Amino acid sequence: RNLRQPEIKRTKTVCTYCGVGCSFEMWTRDRHILKVQPVPEAPANGISTCIKGKFAWDFVNSEKRLTMPLIRDNGRFREASWDEALDLVARRLLEVRDRHGPDSLGFIGSSKGSNEQAYLVQKIARLVIGTNSVDNSSRYCQNPATKGLFRTVGYGGDAGSIEDIEQAEVVVIVGSNTAENHPVIASRIKAAQKLRGQKLIVVDPRKHEMAERADLFLRPNASTDLVWASALSRYMFDNDLADMAFLERWVNHVDEYRQSLTPFTLEYAVSMTGIDRDDLIEAAETIGRANSVCLLWAMGITQHSHGSDTSTALSNLLLVTGNYGKPGSGGYPMRGHNNVQGASDFGCLRNMYPGYEKVSDPDARKRWAKGWGVDPEQLSDKVGEGNFLMVQSAEQGAIKAMYVVGEETAYSDANTHNVHTAFESLDFMVVQDVFLSRTAEFADVVLPACPSVEQEGTYVNTERRIQRAYKVLEPLGDSRPDWQILTDLAARMGYDWGYTHPSQIMDECARIAPMFAGVTYERLENWKSQQWPVATDGTDSPLLYTDGFPNEDGKANLHPLEWQEPEESVDGEYDLMLDNGRMLEQFQGANQTGRTAGIWEQVPNGFVEVSPELAAERGIEEGTWVRVSSRRDSLELPAVITDRVRGRTLFMPIHFGKPGVNLLTGEHNDPDVQTPAYKETAVKLEVLDER
Ligand code: SF4
Repeated sequence: RNLRQPEIKRTKTVCTYCGVGCSFEMWTRDRHILKVQPVPEAPANGISTCIKGKFAWDFVNSEKRLTMPLIRDNGRFREASWDEALDLVARRLLEVRDRHGPDSLGFIGSSKGSNEQAYLVQKIARLVIGTNSVDNSSRYCQNPATKGLFRTVGYGGDAGSIEDIEQAEVVVIVGSNTAENHPVIASRIKAAQKLRGQKLIVVDPRKHEMAERADLFLRPNASTDLVWASALSRYMFDNDLADMAFLERWVNHVDEYRQSLTPFTLEYAVSMTGIDRDDLIEAAETIGRANSVCLLWAMGITQHSHGSDTSTALSNLLLVTGNYGKPGSGGYPMRGHNNVQGASDFGCLRNMYPGYEKVSDPDARKRWAKGWGVDPEQLSDKVGEGNFLMVQSAEQGAIKAMYVVGEETAYSDANTHNVHTAFESLDFMVVQDVFLSRTAEFADVVLPACPSVEQEGTYVNTERRIQRAYKVLEPLGDSRPDWQILTDLAARMGYDWGYTHPSQIMDECARIAPMFAGVTYERLENWKSQQWPVATDGTDSPLLYTDGFPNEDGKANLHPLEWQEPEESVDGEYDLMLDNGRMLEQFQGANQTGRTAGIWEQVPNGFVEVSPELAAERGIEEGTWVRVSSRRDSLELPAVITDRVRGRTLFMPIHFGKPGVNLLTGEHNDPDVQTPAYKETAVKLEVLDER
């Protein structure tokens, strides 16, 4: 008999490190996390996890945790009571609103926090303040993918489930380092490839692990993905591989789209992308002849100046080949943060209420006003600003106050110089977070929030799956759950909503938003989950588009496109392109993984990847220190020589340094959604002899 067993508490939680949404039991005694135990019932991952989900939890007990509210006094933070801090925040936010108008305030909800947190952030912005300037970090990553899906098929989420990816005859991974960023999904693809003979096509300028495992690896020149995708669409029409029956029944604008493909010949694609003609044909034949194709994409596509167009081109290709609405098919933007899907679903978007209802739609506005018990006139129908534009408006003096929940905007927005200037120029800034983050250092008031394991809530993973996380530990010190902080704050601004449990917040949202009509905490108990949209009786939607598309005529839309030049490119001085991305072991600015010793020791330092060709040309050896400079600034770091990168492209992980890679990136962005073109940064490289 194990005498220790009774002391061990087992609690179900959901990993907060990526969009796979692994759930598992956390075994604890007092505040000690003894182990993370995956279970077969976990809907997204079963018994799998990765290094982060399994081991990266020490940060929860870090001495650096915020345990008391902080107020800036004469330039320095001092500890304060919750009453003093919340009174001050409420008073100052209302003062700014009354003096400068509701649109002088901007709100950023957390893509790591719960759905209930996101719902309350947008409710405060819209109802209490009266602005639609509310957003989340999907602006920095996946908004272009959502735009592409809205233009073509209609729902802003993955077409099916992880299980569909596993079942597909062919999986195409484009601009996604799946093995490092969505490790458990990558494992399931690897298994399907090995056990079922699933065909894997990878298209990426970088030769990452999945590229090495691919049956066919295409390596296009950077920023040319729209060209090969459109050329493949044209090839389908020209070679009787387009699914004409599907197109006729389910898709609008077929002729117009087909016409728009005229320039996208194979010859043009070869000249633009640098991909071999035979490889393009093999990819087209493999996709065109398969019974089911899932296409996954991520920031290698979206973080470009025309990421929305390229995302649209990928979805067009799936429509042309009839790959929507059947098992094992569809488009799958791989959501990065654990709840970047949920933060958008639950309304932290400048133009949408929860459940993707437009703020400019009078009927939606009326229903939300009724649900919240106010006059429709109280809710603004003016589209607000996303976080990227908020920062620019702050720099120009139009935004005077910001409220940031759990986001590292000062580190992760592009061109951090401008972000810092913007934050310094605000009249008032509040940050609600677990640590004194780089963003919190600019705040006037810092409110100590709990991490996910110290509060209850729900999260949406990349496959639109809503899952419930239970409270594993009590809040540390005086830190509080996000939903509670926001509820208390709203009450101080005249809106006492009286929530005593996050389930009441979900109930309210489900009453108003048709997409979540049948979502309840009871239906999400333990290992149960629901994939939106969820009907009133609780029926959910593991696979979308089986009965048509959520547009007025029930059809999808092919969307004609043209290729456009990237906004930043090389010249005589800045002669190299810099790519950037994540590593398996770390998460974003390393606020959590950097405070987990075992993880941090695995990869404690930044570096820049240099191709063998460039290393030979410049006399660079492994470990040589180099200076990488963009048109904005410079970073000095050691070189790693690897054929993961090719020719005159460099790669840098995003996790390291107080001012990290975004010291170098620029503000050029996708005009459709204002997502910065992080992947389009021209740089020069100098060898530092003296280091
Ligand atoms: Fe967490 Fe993602 Fe790893 Fe799963 S795959 S354990 S969700 S980081």
